[in-house]
Amino acid sequence: MNDSLPNHDIVLLGAGHTHAHIIRMWRMKPIPDTRLTCISDHMIATYSGMMAGTLAGQYVPSEMQIDLVRLCASCGVRLVHAKVIGHDVGGRRLLLEDRPAVHYDLLSVGIGSRPMLPPGGETGLSIKPMQTFLDRLSTVIDDSLARCSGKALQVAIVGGGASGVEIACCLQQHFTSSRNDASAPIITLIDAGEQLLAGMPARTQQLAAREIQRRGIQLRFNSRIERVEDERQLIFEDGQQWQPDLVIWATSAKPPTLLGQLELPLDSRGFLQTSNTLQSTGSDRVFAVGDTGAVEGERYAKAGVFAVRQGPVLWENLRRKIHGEPLLDWKPQAQFLTLLNTGDQRAILTYRGVSFHAGWCWRLKDRIDSKFMNMYQRYEPPEMMDASASSATEIDLSKQCGGCGSKASARVLQKSLPALQQAQHDHVLMGLDSPDDIALLATRPGLATAVSTDFFSAFVDDPFLLGRIAALNALSDLFAKGATPRAALSIAVLSAGSDEQQARLLSDLSAGAMREFQPVGVPIIGGHSIMGPKLTFGFTILGDADAESIMRKSSLSEGDCLVLTKPLGSGVLLAAHMQAACRAAWWTPLVETMLLSNQHAAAAAFELEVAAATDVTGFGLAGHLLEMLMPSGLTAEISLSSLPLLPGAAELLKNGFESTLAPSNRESCRGLKMSPELHEKSLTKILFDPQTSGGLLLAVSKNRLDELLSRCETQATVIGGIVAGSDSESNLSIVI
Ligand SMILES: Cc1cc2nc3c(=O)[nH]c(=O)nc-3n(C[C@H](O)[C@H](O)[C@H](O)COP(=O)(O)OP(=O)(O)OC[C@H]3O[C@@H](n4cnc5c(N)ncnc54)[C@H](O)[C@@H]3O)c2cc1C
Repeated sequence: MNDSLPNHDIVLLGAGHTHAHIIRMWRMKPIPDTRLTCISDHMIATYSGMMAGTLAGQYVPSEMQIDLVRLCASCGVRLVHAKVIGHDVGGRRLLLEDRPAVHYDLLSVGIGSRPMLPPGGETGLSIKPMQTFLDRLSTVIDDSLARCSGKALQVAIVGGGASGVEIACCLQQHFTSSRNDASAPIITLIDAGEQLLAGMPARTQQLAAREIQRRGIQLRFNSRIERVEDERQLIFEDGQQWQPDLVIWATSAKPPTLLGQLELPLDSRGFLQTSNTLQSTGSDRVFAVGDTGAVEGERYAKAGVFAVRQGPVLWENLRRKIHGEPLLDWKPQAQFLTLLNTGDQRAILTYRGVSFHAGWCWRLKDRIDSKFMNMYQRYEPPEMMDASASSATEIDLSKQCGGCGSKASARVLQKSLPALQQAQHDHVLMGLDSPDDIALLATRPGLATAVSTDFFSAFVDDPFLLGRIAALNALSDLFAKGATPRAALSIAVLSAGSDEQQARLLSDLSAGAMREFQPVGVPIIGGHSIMGPKLTFGFTILGDADAESIMRKSSLSEGDCLVLTKPLGSGVLLAAHMQAACRAAWWTPLVETMLLSNQHAAAAAFELEVAAATDVTGFGLAGHLLEMLMPSGLTAEISLSSLPLLPGAAELLKNGFESTLAPSNRESCRGLKMSPELHEKSLTKILFDPQTSGGLLLAVSKNRLDELLSRCETQATVIGGIVAGSDSESNLSIVI
């Protein structure tokens, strides 16, 4: 985010076995002057080799998961969470749902495969997407058990290949070890062929059949399912019918529907056809890997081993293609080790025609799988910029975490304002002499122009997302006053780069902003863009306000309840993200919260004649609340335990993370009244956490409180109240 814009863009679509390797290599040896972007439909990638073991209780879910938010942050890879809906081959752009297209110079497609389903089969449980399979399975089992009321559950697993066999054994183990015996299901493994594990050596087939029998799993061969009716009624080719309580599809691989929309040549089964260099036969700028690709003239199964072995070849070929060097060929290996987890701390090993079913095979599998995952679950912080370039007196921007959008501290503002000696102007109804979230300029009687400016340095490497948040953040000041935004002027500091790259960057930023401005009728009417070392973006918003009725910061009354409309923690989470420590499970709620407009909560507050309001941003809850309290002399009492928090915020604060602005926010709020016990609590730091696109802080009278809470479309929470002023040094008191 600090550097100049690169000249080459490599885009990975999907983050499966092959692409995970490319992302990891990027940390070790990024290709100069090139940006790597990964587009994924999930923020977690799942390792199929450990999925059945997780079902059997041998692993906890996090052991089979790669956290893409952390991995990409750690490796300096841009991660875009989006759905691809098409491909402009000539224009070298992937078309995305609900956001601008992404340009590429080289593209690699690796979105795996899906189980083949007969008509009506969509109502059953598919093992893909694997990220959600175990949760979906658990819900369906609970629902089915409730429906069956004590009767043994009939489970059909369709597909007698490697994944079907593993899932059958491990599901049975799951019931034995994780659920009580009374719920033991009757599992039936169904296959269209005559035996299990078609294509594998006879000895492996026998070992698997023996284990299946030992577990009491029923086998139903020569049973091709033609269609499914009424959700679970299986109609077989020979006319037979059967209705189990739940159906799991582990059938052979079919191409994801998206492959047909990419306008590239497909093989006879519908997978992307490539040459041995893994390049599409339709475009040498597009690669296809893993289950998604099909190398012309080669016969190999859709298996993770091939996807993994393609990793180093794809990496080398992407590098060579950028440098104009000849590409390497990939050849599927003729022999490879297969290890099938039978759920009982044993595995069936097959290698060069030899097969074993034993504990040592499981230990070997566990060692191989754990070693593999260990490579992708190391989320070291990305290297900071070379700090030696900056002298001791310079502010080292490379050390700014960005959790505060590089906002200047309150101290800096306080120090600079006295120098701003200006004459009084009658048309300035609210200016720096009564600082608030906006300024007010008189226009005609009863109406004023509301003005506010807000911009920040980039804290996410996704200009569309940044544009959306920048717009919402800037609009929030006007909403917080009950003013109506009318127009916006943009402020952009763009990284150096070619005109084309800069134009692309600015269009993505603006598209994001317009996405938020359009619904509230705000056009961007102008602005100013310059080049600088760090991408910075924001807006001046102009609007209308009624000077008499705006919700000023200072109009507090004794007895008011304090309501906060969004959870706190964006500062510490963004700071953690810079160090690759913000988990995917925390990232999604963080982004959703930043993208929540304050418009509706503000409108509800305005209509209910809430007198005092502000939005909580860079100076944190305590800083903004003190700004409200200062002119009134009243005191606020805040209950720490009632503060709404974003997932992960408390854990990160406890582990010592905080935004670079937090210490200065704390310094500006010296003398808060709180017990020594509270001083020691890490959670207290949340009071000083700078917020980006934070919520509104509203002071509402008790008789309007319930209506306000019910009308706010956010997680509005009562966090304390306003009491009479006290003689103590501080007018903010924090209790547990
Ligand atoms: C239960 C089970 C066990 C298995 N065990 C083994 C084994 O032990 N050994 C073995 O060799 N093979 C095994 N396989 C097969 C193996 O999982 C696949 O061959 C392998 O996952 C293929 O890797 P991939 O990278 O092509 O795709 P995947 O690993 O499936 O990765 C594709 C990624 O793309 C993402 N994606 C999908 N669609 C989109 C989209 N439209 N936009 C963006 N992203 C998208 C997905 O979320 C996913 O993260 C197993 C399969 C199953 C089902």
